Amino acid sequence: MSSNTPYNRRQPPPNSKNMQRHHSVNPTESPYSHTNMKPNPGSIHKTDNRPRNYPQNYNHAVQREFQRKRPNYLYQLRKHPKLAFGVVILAVVAIIFVIKINSNNSIGAKKTNVPEFVLPKNFISVNKTTEDIHTGELILVNKQHECEINGENLESVIDNSNKKYQVSSNDVKANKVLINALNDMLGDFYKYAGKTDVMVASCFRSYVKQEKLYQDEIAQVGKSEAGKWVAIPGYSEHQTGFAVDLTLYNKHLTTDQYNGKGIYSWINENCYKYGLVQRYQTSKNSITQIYNEPWHFRYLGEPHAYYMNNNNFCFEEYVDLLHSRSKSNPLVFTDYLGKKWAVYYVASTGFNTQVSVPVGYSYTISGDNVNGFFVTVML
Ligand SMILES: [Zn+2]
Repeated sequence: MSSNTPYNRRQPPPNSKNMQRHHSVNPTESPYSHTNMKPNPGSIHKTDNRPRNYPQNYNHAVQREFQRKRPNYLYQLRKHPKLAFGVVILAVVAIIFVIKINSNNSIGAKKTNVPEFVLPKNFISVNKTTEDIHTGELILVNKQHECEINGENLESVIDNSNKKYQVSSNDVKANKVLINALNDMLGDFYKYAGKTDVMVASCFRSYVKQEKLYQDEIAQVGKSEAGKWVAIPGYSEHQTGFAVDLTLYNKHLTTDQYNGKGIYSWINENCYKYGLVQRYQTSKNSITQIYNEPWHFRYLGEPHAYYMNNNNFCFEEYVDLLHSRSKSNPLVFTDYLGKKWAVYYVASTGFNTQVSVPVGYSYTISGDNVNGFFVTVML
C-alpha cells in the first residue's frame, strides 16, 4: 500500500483483511473490470450501500473506492433534505419555464398577424391631402383606377439622356426618376451588349393624346378589341409619367417592335434592379386585363420592383399585399443589394391625413391612387 493511503498500519482500516487480499486489483482500474457484472447505479444507495448486482466476492474497500471516484449526489441530497427540496423547486421552475416558452411559440406560429418587424416607437406625422393620394411612384392606374394627374416632375428625355439609347422625338417627356432609371439601365445594357438601338418610343402621354390613340385603335380593330391593346383615356399608365414603351431602331431608320427576346431579354430580366417592372405579362393577364406587353415598363422604385420580381407579383397583387400592412406590421424584406426595407400603408382619413413616419430613417411617401398612402422606409 502506498504512503498516501487513507489507512496506516497502526490503525488498520475496517475489513483490512479483505483489503490485503485485494491488493492484486489495480486501483486505477474499474472495480468491475474483473467481472461481467456491473452494479446497477440506480440501486447504489440501498440500505446496505451496495449495488444490486454486487458480486459476492467483492470487498468493501473496492466499493468505497468506487463511491469515492463517483460521488453519489442523490445520496448527498437524501442526507440534506433542505438541499433536496431546493433542487426539486429549481427543477419545477425550469420545467414551467420551458413549457411556457414552447406554448408561446406555438401560439405565435398559429397567428397570421404577428409582426415580422417592429419599427421604433418614435414616429412623427407628415400631413398629406386627398390630392396627394393620386401622386407618387406607387400610384395604381388600371381599368378600375383612373389617373388623376397629368404627369409630375416631367422633363425632356432626350435632354437628359446619356446617349446610350435612342429617343423617338424631342417631345418625349417623363418623370425625372424614370429618366434616371432609363439612363442607368440602358447604360448598363450598352456595356453588356454594346448596342444603342433601343429606343424610348413613348413615356408621358396626356389624356388628349391617349384619346387620339384610343380612337385610332377603335377605327382599326373595333371597340371591344381596342380596350385590350390601348388603354381607355384617363386609365393609361402613360398619363402618370412613370411608364415607358421601348422599340428597336433599325438600320433602315425605321423601328421594329421590341419583344424582349434574344439579347434584349437582359433588359426584361434585369429591369427590377433599376426600379422598373414589365407591367403586363401573359401570366397576369386575368388580373391586369391587358395582354402581354414586353415593351411596356413601369417605374415603381427599386425595393418595390425587386419584391414584385422576387415574388412573381404584378402591381395589382403587390398593392393588395401592401394594403394589409400597417406601421405596426410592415412588409419587411432585404433586396438583392442587401438593403433592408419596411413598407406599410396609411389609409386616408379625409382631406388631411397624418402619415406616421419613423424618426431617424430615410423614407418616401407615395399615394396609392386608391384611398391612402404607402410609406417606404430604408432600415
Ligand atoms: Zn405602354
